[in-house]
Amino acid sequence: MRGYTHLAFALAAASSIQVLTHKDVLSLPVMVAGISALLPDIDHTDSLLGRKIKPISWLINKLLGHRTITHSLDFAIGLCVIILLTSKFSYWAWMFALGYITHLLLDSLTRTGIKLSMLRQNSTIGFKLVKTGGVVDTAIFIVCLLILSFL
Ligand SMILES: [Zn+2]
Repeated sequence: MRGYTHLAFALAAASSIQVLTHKDVLSLPVMVAGISALLPDIDHTDSLLGRKIKPISWLINKLLGHRTITHSLDFAIGLCVIILLTSKFSYWAWMFALGYITHLLLDSLTRTGIKLSMLRQNSTIGFKLVKTGGVVDTAIFIVCLLILSFL
C-alpha cells in the first residue's frame, strides 16, 4: 500500500473519531495518527517517511529488511502497549496506536502482507486483495480524501 494511502486512511479514521467525540479535526492527535501510520515503512528508503530520514531508514533496512519487525503484529501491539502505559493511556497514544495498526491492517490486504509474529519465520499473512499502487489502492485513497473533505 502506498504511503499516501496509509496517511489518508489514518487521517480519515482519526478525524472521524474527532468528529464523533466533538473535538477539533485539525489537531495534534490527528497528526500523531498520520505520522504513526507512516512509521512502519521507515524500513524502506523510498517510503514517505524514509525519504525524510534516509540515513536512518537505510540503516534500518540494512539491519532488518523491509516488512519485517516494523510490520509484525506482535511488535506493533507491544509498541502500542508500551506507549499507552508510559503515557498513562493518553488520547494521543490511542491515536498513535490507531495510525500504526491501520498501517498493518491495510498492508495485510496486499500480496506481501504482514507478519503475525516477528519471532516466527512463516507467520506472514496477506489477503492478496490489493496491489500496491493499483486501482483498489487508489480507490481507498480517494475515498479517504472524500471523507476528509466532508469532515
Ligand atoms: Zn507498510
